[in-house]
Amino acid sequence: MRPLKKFSQNFLTNPFYQKKIVESLHLKTDNCVVEIGPGKGALTQHLIKSEAQRIMVIEIDPRMVETLQEKFQDQIEIINQDVLKVDFCRLSCGKRLKVVGNLPYHITSPILFHLIDYHRCIEQAVLMTQKEVARRVCAKPGSKDYGILSVITQAYAQVEYLFEIKRGNFFPVPAVDSALISVLFFRQVEGIANLELFRKIVRSAFNYRRKTLKNCLSRIFEEKVLNSLDQSFLKKRPEQLTVEDFKHITNLIDKALRDETTRH
Ligand code: SAM
Repeated sequence: MRPLKKFSQNFLTNPFYQKKIVESLHLKTDNCVVEIGPGKGALTQHLIKSEAQRIMVIEIDPRMVETLQEKFQDQIEIINQDVLKVDFCRLSCGKRLKVVGNLPYHITSPILFHLIDYHRCIEQAVLMTQKEVARRVCAKPGSKDYGILSVITQAYAQVEYLFEIKRGNFFPVPAVDSALISVLFFRQVEGIANLELFRKIVRSAFNYRRKTLKNCLSRIFEEKVLNSLDQSFLKKRPEQLTVEDFKHITNLIDKALRDETTRH
């Protein structure tokens, strides 16, 4: 079976890491687990040995689906679909889901944002991504990796950089090294009145990361709305602001926008 580039098919060949990734999920008997992109079953073969009560896998490539059916039969439920179209809340079975995957790297960010959209139904995701992306997800303010992925993910989850895996552990060998991250989703996102506005502000701020917040946000908000923010925030660059700062800024702007609409 020829690995397809369009599906980012780089298979994890080292048995030590295959097992270690599944162990990082700490599965218990009442867990339902969903694997994204099982491929030929490198991780799935360890999932079926775990205590999990239900194993679902989402795979886009029909050739892989056939292999998985032969190999695992009724031990797993196979969803032959694009993961970005899957409603994770429909898969959850009483308890919030555990999600695992050696992700197709060309769509890592869309998958992460898709999981964030379903954060209420997911307890934890253990994800293998390109090392640089893993660093960005887990980055803290002030570092060069800190940006949209860090702030948005960390507003919804507690993230942890688990370990790195060198490119030689995959076939075909990719052009990048990888790292495993744990994303422990909060049941509820505290302290943000308007989540859509929060995402809009974070995205706009980091579109011009070298400029001050005032300069970035003046492209989308009127001056009188920005005046609701403290000068100490406006003078800073986005990369200096914490997740809590972004929440606070969102709430002030949200209030200013609402005051404006009631005035008119
Ligand atoms: N889990 C296997 C392993 O570790 O060897 C395969 C990982 S490989 C990096 C990514 C897998 O995701 C491939 O099996 C690929 O076919 C699948 N895939 C790619 N795009 C997908 C999508 N949009 N939805 C679901 N699966 C996808």
